[in-house]
Amino acid sequence: MSKVAFIGLGNMGSGMARNILKAGHDLVVFDLNEQTVADIVAEGAVGASSASDAIEGADAVITMLPAGKHVKSVYLGDEGLIAKASASTVMMDCSTIDVASAREVVSAAAAAGIKMVDAPVSGGVAAAAAGTLTFMVGGEEAAYDAAQPYLDAMGANLVHAGAAGAGQAAKICNNMMLAIQMISVCEGFSLAEKLGLDAQKLFDISSKASGQCWSLTSYCPVPGPVETSPANNDYQPGFAAAMMLKDLRLAKDAIESVDANSPLGVLSEELFSQFAESGHENTDFSGIINMLRK
Ligand code: NAD
Repeated sequence: MSKVAFIGLGNMGSGMARNILKAGHDLVVFDLNEQTVADIVAEGAVGASSASDAIEGADAVITMLPAGKHVKSVYLGDEGLIAKASASTVMMDCSTIDVASAREVVSAAAAAGIKMVDAPVSGGVAAAAAGTLTFMVGGEEAAYDAAQPYLDAMGANLVHAGAAGAGQAAKICNNMMLAIQMISVCEGFSLAEKLGLDAQKLFDISSKASGQCWSLTSYCPVPGPVETSPANNDYQPGFAAAMMLKDLRLAKDAIESVDANSPLGVLSEELFSQFAESGHENTDFSGIINMLRK
């Protein structure tokens, strides 16, 4: 079994790290939050005093950090992981970050002879704990092959999306599609309500007709039709509006950086920004129906 260093033990990282432990690897962990480190040390991991301490002698490094600036600060520079790691270490950054930062870090690793992938995830805290995440992976074939056994221990699906940054590109595009799709379903149900059409009837029809999509059939934003929807639980997340907004801001930056034409992507960022910033950061993203129906 291998020695794995895990950095970033937040809501997602703590569950993912536990699955590395369950797979039988020796786990060394670091987080700025000492309590999260202590919790997993109590379950058999070894705590390190810094990120560079954690990677000493590690076969693999996994990071799960908030944003691009954290990832760059951990990997780059004289004290960063890339400068400190041995060339045989494989590195996986599973955070959701901008494509440009992902490419910068993966190419710095490649320049040092280190195999690295960007491997953002789809699936929330429950999937992280259950080991059923989907990983969208960017990087060279050899880096993907080296990362695969570790990602397999934390996920149920693995897709090699392409070269460095392709994992982040896939994540951003998918979540932008989801946001637009959710707004369209919310608008359909709002209009139906004003037209006197029963929500369950609209669901019964559209879920079998051309309006069918995941936001309707798996995550219906009105209470009733889909038992497991946050709509039936007072819009408790699920997937919080603040998280969706973070991904839409990354999408908006990406749209601007390549001069793409994505009017609905840009508008969905504006609508989710209004929603999250009106006191709904921690409301499930499908709760935007309550803003749209006003
Ligand atoms: P979180 O804020 O709960 O965890 C981040 C952790 O990183 C914290 O424990 C923090 O102390 C630690 N950290 C920050 N800077 C550090 C540093 N320099 N060194 C060591 N530790 C550091 O966030 P999360 O919900 O676990 O999300 C992590 C990433 O996963 C984000 O990029 C997020 O967008 C993505 N993501 C989250 C979800 C979700 O449902 N929570 C789903 C998919 C993807």
